[in-house]
Amino acid sequence: MGQPVGYPAGQPQAYGHPGYAQPGYAQPGYAPPGYAQAPGYPAAQVPAPGCRGCGSPAAENFSVRAHKGLLVVMHFHKLDGPFCRSCGRSVVRQMTTRTLCLGWWSPLSLVAFTPFTLLWNLIAHLKFSKLPQSVPAPGRQPMDEGAPVLRRPLAYVALIPLAWALWVIIGAIIYSG
Ligand SMILES: [Zn+2]
Repeated sequence: MGQPVGYPAGQPQAYGHPGYAQPGYAQPGYAPPGYAQAPGYPAAQVPAPGCRGCGSPAAENFSVRAHKGLLVVMHFHKLDGPFCRSCGRSVVRQMTTRTLCLGWWSPLSLVAFTPFTLLWNLIAHLKFSKLPQSVPAPGRQPMDEGAPVLRRPLAYVALIPLAWALWVIIGAIIYSG
């Protein structure tokens, strides 16, 4: 008795991505302009404009992808925007590194899905990099961009399939004559 009816205690925490655990993008107390007057509409159900990670108004509505292929099991992961500069670049770095590490280990992934994913994230990176510095909504933080992909050791797992492909190509050239 006497419990005030309010927001559920659990805010959305992670969008299925271990490295992406920002506070929910629709916190009570942050009412985006234009949506503030929606009567009787819980804030958690109103799509906030701007970055979904930190509420920064300058955001690009573009998704980021990751791909995992292990023998016959393939996993496609897509995280929808909008993201601001910091959050976007942070998510691109995390998901690209994961793809470079885990994306090569099934035949279709090797020749199709992982190259596609890497290209997609490159476009995403360019789009987010064009945005101005993030200005997060009051009380919120943009995501830490972290180290560039090439300074993350896991990214270099990609050298294994690359070396293998090179070996196959050289072998084909040498032994075809
Ligand atoms: Zn952000």
